[in-house]
Amino acid sequence: MPFLDLPPWLLSLFLAPFGLLLGSFCNVLIHRLPQEAPEDRDVVTKASHCPSCKAKVKPWHNVPVFGWLWLRGKCAACGWAIPFRYPLVELLGGLILGAAHWLFPFGTLIWLKAVLCAFALVVLFFTDFTEMILPDAIQFPLMVLGVLAALPQLAWPESLMKVWSRDGSLLQVLTFHNGLQPAPAFPRFEATVTWQQSLLGLVIGYGAPALLNLAYKALRKTDGLGMGDFKMLAWLGAFWGWAPMLGILFVGAALGTAVGVPLMLTRRSGAQTMLPFGCFLALATPLVVFFGRALWLGYLGWIG
Ligand SMILES: [Zn+2]
Repeated sequence: MPFLDLPPWLLSLFLAPFGLLLGSFCNVLIHRLPQEAPEDRDVVTKASHCPSCKAKVKPWHNVPVFGWLWLRGKCAACGWAIPFRYPLVELLGGLILGAAHWLFPFGTLIWLKAVLCAFALVVLFFTDFTEMILPDAIQFPLMVLGVLAALPQLAWPESLMKVWSRDGSLLQVLTFHNGLQPAPAFPRFEATVTWQQSLLGLVIGYGAPALLNLAYKALRKTDGLGMGDFKMLAWLGAFWGWAPMLGILFVGAALGTAVGVPLMLTRRSGAQTMLPFGCFLALATPLVVFFGRALWLGYLGWIG
């Protein structure tokens, strides 16, 4: 794979435009997945249209970021102000795909996991932020993918440790190092997630709260708690293992409190204000994945 030989910055230049396009698709998911009617949730066959006047978006107006700049943030047909979220999500997409291989070796399983997780978090952050919804259509497949991604090392532990170099000799590499792309920042992170850690993450994140919720429903005869946040914890647990998942819950709750308490104090009626907890979980995830190990070791050192 000569592709792996490219210097990281060149790979960034090559991948970022695809990231912008994926970001554009994220906008479609963010807009359509929370819709009530099933036909409005179609994210595959329906052409891009203005959410306000339903006019079809011309292809050259649909070019990520530049289309929005060209239109000065307004629909060409009806003048509806296109939310800043659209170019922002596209830029985030470009950033994710353009930067991921600096942190995770390009083309490895952990790179794929990180990219998938990052795009999913962008979508869930904005559906939760705008509609207070974390769509099942995204979260259930991610639970399955998270566990599946931990399985190859079980069946073929060797194949993930070695890649063929161009002269036909085997290079000894780990799952998190492809031997060609340096991924300068990677060595600071955790090793790969085992299938046990992944499955436990899924079970603790969703199974335990789901059981509690069933009991709660039976006792109180109500709808119970919103399960979207727990489903999010479940797939994050399947992706990164049970311990980082608990870290994400802890950091997310801390961030939520840091934002929520001042909000409650400044607004009188604030006790009823609902905060989109999924947004805080999404923000907490990169913090825990990148710095969780250092934070945990620091904490252990601090308590003695
Ligand atoms: Zn319009």
